[in-house]
Amino acid sequence: MIDLHTHSTASDGSYSPTDLIRYAKTKGLRALALTDHDCVDGLQEAIDVGKKMGLEVIPGVELSAKFPNGTMHILGLFVNPSDPIFLQRLAVLQEARSQRNPKIVKKLQDLGIKITYDEVVTASGGGQVGRPHFARVLMEKGYVKTIGEAFEKYLKNGGTAYVEKERFSPAECITLIHKAGGVAILAHPFTLYLSVEELDRLLEQLTPTGLDGLEVYYSVHTPEQTAQYEQLARKWGLVATGGSDFHGEYKPKIDLGVGTGSLQVPYSVLEELKRREKIIKELPHHA
Ligand code: AMP
Ligand code: ZN
Ligand code: FE
Ligand code: FE
Repeated sequence: MIDLHTHSTASDGSYSPTDLIRYAKTKGLRALALTDHDCVDGLQEAIDVGKKMGLEVIPGVELSAKFPNGTMHILGLFVNPSDPIFLQRLAVLQEARSQRNPKIVKKLQDLGIKITYDEVVTASGGGQVGRPHFARVLMEKGYVKTIGEAFEKYLKNGGTAYVEKERFSPAECITLIHKAGGVAILAHPFTLYLSVEELDRLLEQLTPTGLDGLEVYYSVHTPEQTAQYEQLARKWGLVATGGSDFHGEYKPKIDLGVGTGSLQVPYSVLEELKRREKIIKELPHHA
């Protein structure tokens, strides 16, 4: 079994890349993709440790795309973590985050909450700061009982301390990933809050822009959703991929590889993705 969607301390997971690979070995996984948000800082460490420990590591990323309501995330797998143009574009997103984070602090302070940016940075452990780190500080200070409650009350889109962040359009995300040599996958489709018909129409738009896969197998998809997404992937010629979205203690109910218990992603998914990867890497400049 494999896991194609995981996070480390480079973004908002609680395991360092090294610990993540070690944990994947104890779980008996054959391959793992590290897909931190907007950031590839953990990839070299993960690849090096993977080589040492005999675990196949796929360099990945997870980009937030512009989408009217709901959350659209696009995973890039097999991206080149040292591609200069790719790194430049990621730097734009990281700059947007450093503009956004102090604004979240300000909103929380205006709500009467005693919190400083330094505390959030400390919680992030030196990696990229994201909303789960705010959630952790709010929890540690007793303002909320769980990470989930921090999102519900304050941090989610529509929460009292929500601040928008700059994103690229879906087509831009897909092109960016292709140009970095990667395959592009629409992550956890349920967070788009679309009906099956609406998702079908979205895929009709995204497939011609180069979308390669749909994340069909995911920790919290219901069997019904999984079956619907499987069908849509088949219809649009997309690889049906899967992963847990493991974040360590930031998502305590989700375990590596198995998600909430029953997730199973076979190695054959990776073989299919590798066929796509080969085609993309053969394009002139991965255009
Ligand atoms: P950011 O990158 O700062 O926009 O934060 C995104 C992170 O917040 C991702 O890891 C999401 O999984 C996490 N997240 C979003 N909504 C929730 C929620 N309701 N409960 C827990 N985590 C969430
Ligand atoms: Zn995350
Ligand atoms: Fe995501
Ligand atoms: Fe994720």
